[in-house]
Amino acid sequence: MTTSPGCSRCDGEYESGLHVVRDCPKSRDLWVSFGFVDPEFFSRETWCWIREATRGSSGMLFLAIIWWAWRWRNGEVLNDETWGLEQVRAKINMLYMDMRSCWSGNIQEEYTVKDCGARQRGLD
Ligand SMILES: [Zn+2]
Repeated sequence: MTTSPGCSRCDGEYESGLHVVRDCPKSRDLWVSFGFVDPEFFSRETWCWIREATRGSSGMLFLAIIWWAWRWRNGEVLNDETWGLEQVRAKINMLYMDMRSCWSGNIQEEYTVKDCGARQRGLD
């Protein structure tokens, strides 16, 4: 992050990692543009958010979006890049297609993740 704790992209209060990739208005617009519109999606804690979002058929798309949301922020903040939403969407679609050509099936099957609820309850 930058030396200021605030987000330079939206003048938000604290630029956490989750703010950068999900909650910053630019990132939120990106998620919504790909159909991630469920309010619960935007309210989960980091661990549960990643776990739930990587399940099922949209897991690879989720990973492509999260990468480019991070890269978009870094390009703007560190390199004065000025990409628009459609440019980032195109990059995401290209990465997503590459990922799909490398993996088949559900990425969740590649590793085991402990129960999200147990983690929240401090049981693991
Ligand atoms: Zn922000």
